[in-house]
Amino acid sequence: MKYISTRGNTPAKTFTEILLGGLAPDGGLYLPEQYPQVTRAELDAWRSLSYADLAFALLTKFATDIPSDSLRTIVRKTYTAEVYCNGRAESNARDITPLRTLEPGVHILELSNGPTLAFKDMAMQLLGNLFEYALDKQHDELNILGATSGDTGSAAEYAMRGKRGIRVFMLSPHGKMSGFQRAQMYSLQDPNIYNIAVTGMFDDAQDMVKAVSNDHAFKAKYNIGTVNSINWARVSAQVVYYFKGYFAATKSNDEQVAFSVPSGNFGNICAGHIARMMGLPIGQLILATNENDVLDEFFRTGIYRPRGTDHTYETSSPSMDISKASNFERFMFDLVGRDAAKVREFWGKVDTGGAFDIKGSPYWSELSNFHFASGMSRHQDRLTTIRELWEEYGVMIDPHTADGIKVGMEQRRPSLPLVCLETALPAKFEETIAEALGRQPERPAGLEGIEALPQRCEVMDADVAKLKAYIAANVSQ
Ligand SMILES: *Cc1c(COP(=O)(O)O)cnc(C)c1O
Repeated sequence: MKYISTRGNTPAKTFTEILLGGLAPDGGLYLPEQYPQVTRAELDAWRSLSYADLAFALLTKFATDIPSDSLRTIVRKTYTAEVYCNGRAESNARDITPLRTLEPGVHILELSNGPTLAFKDMAMQLLGNLFEYALDKQHDELNILGATSGDTGSAAEYAMRGKRGIRVFMLSPHGKMSGFQRAQMYSLQDPNIYNIAVTGMFDDAQDMVKAVSNDHAFKAKYNIGTVNSINWARVSAQVVYYFKGYFAATKSNDEQVAFSVPSGNFGNICAGHIARMMGLPIGQLILATNENDVLDEFFRTGIYRPRGTDHTYETSSPSMDISKASNFERFMFDLVGRDAAKVREFWGKVDTGGAFDIKGSPYWSELSNFHFASGMSRHQDRLTTIRELWEEYGVMIDPHTADGIKVGMEQRRPSLPLVCLETALPAKFEETIAEALGRQPERPAGLEGIEALPQRCEVMDADVAKLKAYIAANVSQ
């Protein structure tokens, strides 16, 4: 299996060749040359597999240059009840992603049982083990540099802590994260984790990361890499739980299901699109946004118009506060029949602050063949949905999952079972839960007093020279 760029000007690469990289050199995103197809016989055989074995069956189709034995060891080490047990009963933890049924035909797929209580652990934990394997083979090391306002940074740190050959330098806005988020990250005492609290906003931290990444000499000298959501291995790891969720919600492979996905960078739902392209019987992919509705706008009107940070709202589902969906280019590449010239034309506009419009082109009618639906959910909808689920089913959900359920219930075709993806646990968003329910969410066992643990972080001005000096000093030790 080889990987090509959505912009068409990069030679094909293998899975491990693109594992540690981000964008392709031509500015595009990597995708398989063609999607591996899953046969009916495979679907029948996979229905009863454990999560780890299902992950192996799927990932072996993508990571064809990793020997089977190594890949099997890596997935078995990644998807264990021990890693995915946060606050859940042991019997549930064995399922890794248990399906919770609200009423016949309406389900929640739990994806947030990993160490940082958000679905990003599903892929990031695998990435940590894949990175360690690849670096070990190449006798190389990697210094991951990133900026976070919450979920991604903590998921990366918990995936990379203690890994040979890897250091993580994670920038976060000083004093801007919740006490729980701060404690989650800053209480890590592993010597390969470096938390840097930047006295500024998230954008300042992000700009510092970009500045270092644009210094190619520095980047090469210190083996700087990233773990952002465009990483192909992350997307491929997410394909697995669509299969797992499908099997859990159906009795036979003749049935179809709908998935509802709280979306920001289009990474999660992109994996659903790929699962469908591989042959999983998905009848509907329902994309939910919050008030930052660039993607809902596209699926409703055919216009993709990313917005500036000044038009990005801070909402109570903050992990979906994006104005430009970094994985969306992967879907568009498929929609335009893999015509890289067309993608270059569209992103020529996007990359210079513009928009593109497919209404009135053949692509607009083509879109219906991909079975997407979409909708938007606001603060008040989140509160109402959180309250309804609590009162009707005794189930407490987080604000992002609430966006997905609200839009999923509106957009679903009644004939299809609906699987709503849970993207975080309510414990991460105490304020909004208190506003909706007048009570605090429960903390998973072991996390009750984490705010009181000793914390370790470097406070730094938004100064690129200081950041480079800090990295250099810690890498050469
Ligand atoms: C990252 C994140 C999302 C958005 O996922 P994308 O892959 O960016 O679309 C939704 N909810 C939570 C809790 C997240 O952390």
